[in-house]
Amino acid sequence: MFVLELTADLSGSECSADALQARAVGAYVGMAVGDALGATVEFLTPREIHEQFGIHQDMRGGGWLRLRKGQVTDDTEMSLALGAAILAEGRVEAGAVAAAFSEWMRGKPVDIGHTVRRGISQYRLTGTTQMPENDYDAGNGACMRSLPIALCTLGADSSLVAQANRTQSHTTHHSAVGDAGTLTVVRMVQAALLGGDMGHLKGLAEALVAEQPLYRYDRRRMENPGGFLVETLKAVFQALFATDTFEGALIEVVNRGGDADTTGAILGMIAGALYGYDAIPRRWLTALDAKAATACRDQARALLRMSPHCLTK
Ligand SMILES: [Mg+2]
Repeated sequence: MFVLELTADLSGSECSADALQARAVGAYVGMAVGDALGATVEFLTPREIHEQFGIHQDMRGGGWLRLRKGQVTDDTEMSLALGAAILAEGRVEAGAVAAAFSEWMRGKPVDIGHTVRRGISQYRLTGTTQMPENDYDAGNGACMRSLPIALCTLGADSSLVAQANRTQSHTTHHSAVGDAGTLTVVRMVQAALLGGDMGHLKGLAEALVAEQPLYRYDRRRMENPGGFLVETLKAVFQALFATDTFEGALIEVVNRGGDADTTGAILGMIAGALYGYDAIPRRWLTALDAKAATACRDQARALLRMSPHCLTK
């Protein structure tokens, strides 16, 4: 109910094409920046981060994956694989998405989650593109790559957005808790793209908590968030709502450690859509892997162009 009202609210808001594009590119590049910044401190505790870096706020690579400065990980790579499959098909088609993920895994990625590997292996063995429902599948691996869905379904009926979200998620992750959290992130990005403010985003987070109380994020400060999407989103929501810039929000979330590349990527896509490309600090943009940055910019524009919001303009 709330979401429908929100959509109606925003559809009438002024949103020039240039501003929309800056938000879409901001979301995609923001996601990659968050991935690259967070990967350095993945699996560290806040105390360990403080001892090593003071405040971790510059691109430096390293981390347990021994990355180059500005290098991205599976969060960005899987998003780009998903986006390419959507662009090639002209829609979100499960077989094309699963094939794209399988092809990505063939390239020996620098990192891959357990649930992702299992889903892709099942696809290779049996051809299945939708994993059976499993409560243990509420990891953050489907959410971290969900941005192409937010872009290509912008302006679509909310049931179609939810369907596209399930199609891409269930290739590897299938749980009610995971679906609800990931759909909320997609809706937050879409609300921000259409000019929604922090109040709109809080409303969507509250709607998620009402539907799935596990996501209640206003209690204890979430540090060391693990790969469980509930922990990931608690850290993301706390950091997003406690700050008022892209830079401040991203620094706040990655310094909590834990699954920091993925909290960084998810925070980065929402905050990038909210604050826009120009709000991303230049020192992070210049350090970001150039090939990944170009692919993110190109896909952001192309996916937005195929969305119902832009096709009906
Ligand atoms: Mg990663």
